[in-house]
Amino acid sequence: MVIKRATQIGNPIIRQKSRPALLSSKKTKTVIKNLIDSMRYHGLVGMAAPQIGISQRVFVSEIRKTKMRNPKDLDPLRIFINPKIKRLSAKKVFGYEGCGSVAYAQLFGNVKRSQSVTVEAFNENREKFILSASGLLARIIQHENDHLEGKVFLDRSPGIKSLKSSGEYVRPKKA
Ligand SMILES: [Zn+2]
Repeated sequence: MVIKRATQIGNPIIRQKSRPALLSSKKTKTVIKNLIDSMRYHGLVGMAAPQIGISQRVFVSEIRKTKMRNPKDLDPLRIFINPKIKRLSAKKVFGYEGCGSVAYAQLFGNVKRSQSVTVEAFNENREKFILSASGLLARIIQHENDHLEGKVFLDRSPGIKSLKSSGEYVRPKKA
């Protein structure tokens, strides 16, 4: 298992547009494996190749069960190679986001994004698929796809006053 430290904002690779990935290359396979291991290790719901220092259009997602998470949001491991966003809903919704590359996911902000998204990509078996998603998964897909364009959630103008440190964001609500 190879755990990669998340590349942080300030590192130029986070601001670069990533290059297309070669579907059948050994390097792509290694990137995918390292992304999955690193995402799980850091407790993230998604991770994109630039976040482990690789300029390649690849990201992974997985919404695992935690005490905090709504069971309806859970989603299996997904791999997106050379994704293309085909449709973004006009309807937008706010939701809190953090990022492994922004203060090691210790900072959260309220970000407006399309409520649903349709994405076309290749999986690890080089098969093309089209996925329509809404809710948390739609948010993750947009967030991770942004990484491939050199963007982070802070660029989406979360209100400065919405920002929360992780300790406050995950604090259990009082009954
Ligand atoms: Zn991120």
